[in-house]
Amino acid sequence: MTRTAIVAALHDELASVLALMPDEHRQVVGGREFWVGHLHGQDVVAVLSGIGKVAAATTATLLIRSFGVGRIVFTGVAGGLGPGVKVGDVVLARAFLQHDMDASPIFPRHEVPGYGRARFDADPGLADALELACERMLHTLPQHLDPAVVHAFGLQAPRLHQGLLLSGDRFVATTGESQALQRELPDALAVEMEGAAFAQVCHDFGMPLAVVRTISDRADDLAHVDFPRFLREVASRYSGAIIEALFEN
Ligand code: SAH
Repeated sequence: MTRTAIVAALHDELASVLALMPDEHRQVVGGREFWVGHLHGQDVVAVLSGIGKVAAATTATLLIRSFGVGRIVFTGVAGGLGPGVKVGDVVLARAFLQHDMDASPIFPRHEVPGYGRARFDADPGLADALELACERMLHTLPQHLDPAVVHAFGLQAPRLHQGLLLSGDRFVATTGESQALQRELPDALAVEMEGAAFAQVCHDFGMPLAVVRTISDRADDLAHVDFPRFLREVASRYSGAIIEALFEN
């Protein structure tokens, strides 16, 4: 049976995944806690990625080489970039790019040296399965959230977007930087700090990867009101429901 890695970016999101696992046990490798167990009867290992590309790449490598996973699913939050990508929407990555990779003029801007490319793809089959899980979550969960939470974060009609996800070792929190990214990479939907690192490692090992991100902010000056509350009451519940729907299928 293929073992699935479920990677979360933040503690609240990991907690909502661990709540679905009846029998997990902890193994510490490289200072990371890997939770090995089952979810809906399937073999899984859940772990925090660590924040940033180096932490993410190390976690991905350990999952593949020390835990023998056969596919990796990542769930987290991200800043929305594309027009119409709003707080509470969900972005499913179909491609990844490291927006802070720049070995120009030796290599074209954003190209990863040695790979001849800037963009890495999600696994189409795994992303399709995650798409169904996201749609199922969006059809049910928002109606079950506390109306005060829906109102506070404007979650009336959350949407699923699919396309390019950017990663870099920077929390993007100014309108200037967000606009610069949108000008440089007009098809980018969202920005975070880990996905493209996972994608490069998964490319090296031929490992299927899919990444889903709930939009927690617009990557601009309007740092949103209450990030911890959004994480606890929205993003981590989205993560748990998406993962549950993925394993029910
Ligand atoms: N205050 C947070 C700090 C982590 S936020 C905490 O409670 O721990 C950074 C995480 O959110 C990263 O894992 C990144 O992938 C994601 N993220 C969300 N919005 C982002 C943005 N605007 N720019 C970059 N990363 C973002």
